[in-house]
Amino acid sequence: MQLPLLPPFEPGSVWLVGAGPGDPGLLTVLALKALSEADAVVYDALVDERTLKLARPEAILEFAGKRGGKPSPKQPDISRRLVRLAREGKRVLRLKGGDPFVFGRGGEEALALVAAKVPFRIVPGITAGVGGLAYAGIPATHRDVNEAVTFITGHNVSGEVPDNLDWPALARGAPVLVFYMALKHLAQIRDRLIAGGRDASEAAAVVSHAATDRQRTITTTLARLVEDTEAAKMEPPALVVVGPAVRLASGLDWLGAMKGRVLDPDPLKLKARREAG
Ligand code: SAH
Repeated sequence: MQLPLLPPFEPGSVWLVGAGPGDPGLLTVLALKALSEADAVVYDALVDERTLKLARPEAILEFAGKRGGKPSPKQPDISRRLVRLAREGKRVLRLKGGDPFVFGRGGEEALALVAAKVPFRIVPGITAGVGGLAYAGIPATHRDVNEAVTFITGHNVSGEVPDNLDWPALARGAPVLVFYMALKHLAQIRDRLIAGGRDASEAAAVVSHAATDRQRTITTTLARLVEDTEAAKMEPPALVVVGPAVRLASGLDWLGAMKGRVLDPDPLKLKARREAG
C-alpha cells in the first residue's frame, strides 16, 4: 500500500490527536504514525486499550483522565506536563477520545502550547457523535428526515445543564440533537425539550460504549427516555440522540445484523406509505 507523504513528528513537539470513538480501526493514518513514533503518550480515559497497544513499546504511557472515582488531573497540570515533556525533547502524543476539538478541551491545551512556544499539530479524529452513532446504525443526517444536526454537551463548565442555550429554539428548530455527557442530567434535558415544544413521542436513543466491545444501544421515545435508560442500566460514556434519525437504526444497525438482527429495508416506512397512496 502506497501511503502519501506524512509530516515528520519532530522531537520537542506535541501532536494533539483524536483517537476516534473506540475501534482502533477508526484511527487516522496520522494518528497511527504518531502512535508508532511517540516517545510519550499522554492519554485520556476514553482512549481504547486496544489503541494504546499500538504505541511504540518504548514509549512512556501516561494516563491523564478520571479513574475509579478519583478526581482527574487538573487541566493546567496536563498542559504543563505536555510542555515539560516537549522541552525534554520528546515527541509528545496527546491522545484524546473522538476529536480533540469537539468537547475535548483540545483548544485549551493547544493554547497552552502556543503560550509556551511549543510547536504542535492537531490531528482530528472521528467524533463519537458521528462515528459512534454510525456504529449503532444511526446516521447523523439523512435526507428524508434532517437537514441539520446539533451537537450539545449535557453539562457545562460548572457541571450543570447549559443554560445559555436557547432550549425552546433547539426543541423546535433542531431536527436531530446529539448530546454528549448527558446521562447525569437526562431528566432535565428531557424536561427542557418537552417544555420547549418538542413532541414527547419523538424517537430517542442512547448508545453507550459505542464502537467498542461493550457497545449497547436502546431506542425509545423522549417521554420514556429516562425510565428506559435507567432500566437498561446504560453507563457512560454514552451518546443521547433525539430525533427521527434514530428510526433508521432498525434498518441500518449493521453491527446488529452481524449478530443475526434482521434489518428493515424501509425503516421510515416511506415505501409502505407511498404504496398506501
Ligand atoms: N472529544 C470526544 C468527546 C469527549 S466528551 C469526541 O469527539 O467524541 C466525552 C463524551 O463523549 C462522553 O460523555 C460521551 O457522551 C461521548 N463519547 C465519547 N466516546 C464515546 C463512545 N465510545 N461511546 C459513546 N459516547 C462516547
